[in-house]
Amino acid sequence: MISVAIDGPAGAGKSTVAKLLAKRLDFMYINTGAMYRVVTLKALENNIEPDDVQKLCELIDSMDMYFDGNDLIVNGVNTSDKIYSPLISQNVSRYAAISEVRQKLVKVQKYISEKFNVVMDGRDIGTVVLKNAPFKFFLIASPEERARRRYNELVKKNIEVDYDSLLKKIIERDYMDSHREIAPLKKADDAIEIDSTNLSIEQVVLIMEEYITKN
Ligand code: C5P
Repeated sequence: MISVAIDGPAGAGKSTVAKLLAKRLDFMYINTGAMYRVVTLKALENNIEPDDVQKLCELIDSMDMYFDGNDLIVNGVNTSDKIYSPLISQNVSRYAAISEVRQKLVKVQKYISEKFNVVMDGRDIGTVVLKNAPFKFFLIASPEERARRRYNELVKKNIEVDYDSLLKKIIERDYMDSHREIAPLKKADDAIEIDSTNLSIEQVVLIMEEYITKN
């Protein structure tokens, strides 16, 4: 099976790019951020704090997850319209920092990559989940550009937000994701870095596609 790993900070365009790339390559798109988000959603709904590891593990074990195109289906329910709210974004890094949560989700991610050709995006795909992936990209963009993109995305979904607080939260989330003890956000040594600040989605996809087809 062939895997493409795309990592990078929040709002760098990973999921948009990964979706398009997967379509063009006819690979399965796996959005690992959605998996951490859905665990956060269910944990908040059930009042489970990040330090209640046993309850969190039971919760994850009770969740049957699969991807249907770009949507993450959990126990038969499409979660896409619930997992991108500011409340989830604000809390997800706390749950994603828990070792047991990561172990369980990484296991699922590895399993899928053994069965299908995948484009997988996240924070630790090139460094931990798909260490041996032949294609690894690290997508970055300035915090201001990332906040602007998230702002537009949320406005489109009719979610009310304030740009400045979004920028602050993006910077905070980057800090937490790249300073946590387990599997921090970090460029793999063999990943190709692409700065998308001044590039269109199409340009980024093309850079990746050309690199993959040439190698
Ligand atoms: O990609 P997205 O911004 O939706 O990810 C949400 C959060 O999930 C990240 O901020 C990070 O805390 C966590 N995450 C992670 N490892 C991944 C993917 C996401 O820790 N592979």
